[in-house]
Amino acid sequence: MTTVSRCYRCGEQYEEATRVRCTCGEPVWFETDTTAFAWDECRDYDGMWRYEPLLPIDRPKGIARAAGGTPLVRSEGLDAVAGCQVYVKDEGEHPTGAYKDRGSAVAVPHAIATSGGAVGTVSYGNMAMSTAAHAASLDRECVVLVPDEISSVRLELIGQYEPTIIRVDGDYGALYDDALTLSTELPIAILVSDAPARISGYKTALFEICEAFAPDVPDAIVLPTSSGGFASGIWRGIRDLEAAGLLDEPPRLYLVQTAVSDPLTRAFDAGEVDPTPLEDDEVGETIAHSIGNPDPPSGGRALAAVRDTDGAVVSLRDEKIRVAQRQFAVDGGFCVEPASATSLAGATRLSERGAIGADEDVVLIPTGTGFKEFGTGDPSVATKQTSRTALPEHLASLLAGS
Ligand SMILES: *Cc1c(COP(=O)(O)O)cnc(C)c1O
Ligand SMILES: [Zn+2]
Repeated sequence: MTTVSRCYRCGEQYEEATRVRCTCGEPVWFETDTTAFAWDECRDYDGMWRYEPLLPIDRPKGIARAAGGTPLVRSEGLDAVAGCQVYVKDEGEHPTGAYKDRGSAVAVPHAIATSGGAVGTVSYGNMAMSTAAHAASLDRECVVLVPDEISSVRLELIGQYEPTIIRVDGDYGALYDDALTLSTELPIAILVSDAPARISGYKTALFEICEAFAPDVPDAIVLPTSSGGFASGIWRGIRDLEAAGLLDEPPRLYLVQTAVSDPLTRAFDAGEVDPTPLEDDEVGETIAHSIGNPDPPSGGRALAAVRDTDGAVVSLRDEKIRVAQRQFAVDGGFCVEPASATSLAGATRLSERGAIGADEDVVLIPTGTGFKEFGTGDPSVATKQTSRTALPEHLASLLAGS
């Protein structure tokens, strides 16, 4: 098992397997020597465990084996909307419906192996479901810290795996730091959004994309970003493949935020190295509830990834996000949650700006399924009506016009 972790910014190296942040304040990630790696060394396993030689643990048991291996679909129907050659990496096709499973598939077994106690997380969304599902499949106690005002729909989604759910009153955002402290003081590993083992799991999404394109490389990748964990994983994957000599020109990374909580876009536009946390009165409501972090713990690293790959960060308002969600369905056949629809809305914006060209191969990553979302959106669905006896004639006249 790999236990060497390193800070991307200052280069400091650590041997403790459970360390999350460097003394300089930035997050650390696990390092793997990939210099001798080639695609033909992949394992003959399903999903992300194909890349076992580049992961910090051996393939575990349970639901973790179902993570990764999501489809990469050339989606011509979305080209006109996005203004480029669109490929969709459908991360909604995971056991709990979001890319978070790649991270939990590594982090939960890794925590069990290194600390022996319970596992936990701070989330009331996809992260909570994913962590609870992975803990359940390995028969491990799981504690989920949710905000006091959580909706009953979310409680039901998380509660099906029967973790211990604790409603916490107070500043929910501050629980990130509390979680790191509690994990050192109590027999629990609270796996935050950018726990190093999660980042290792996330990098497999980049491996899958690049292996599918090899020996070519996509021109750009567009993904929604909140805490910066997934973006960090994609960048970690790029660096692993560069070290292996498998990637000469990395894809440009474009990160998309919701306009009501976009500290990364602000920092990018201002040329800042680190995001400035947003105050409560600077943050608004959004339908893209999976991406509203006003104080992203891996924000500096996400910005470094963007600059390293010559990408950008953009923000979109709910109106654009809602339109993109519908376009994903109508023009692509994909059911994505609003946060994930920002990948398409972001590509549209970037091609309007000339940052993405019409002949470029661009991978959009809808990070999570829309199937958990119904009942929360617009219920107006157009229908027609007829009787069973009148149906043949009714249908015939409808089809005659088409
Ligand atoms: C968690 C999540 C994100 C944001 O990922 P970060 O690692 O926090 O940047 C985006 N989309 C969906 C569907 C998510 O669940
Ligand atoms: Zn450091």
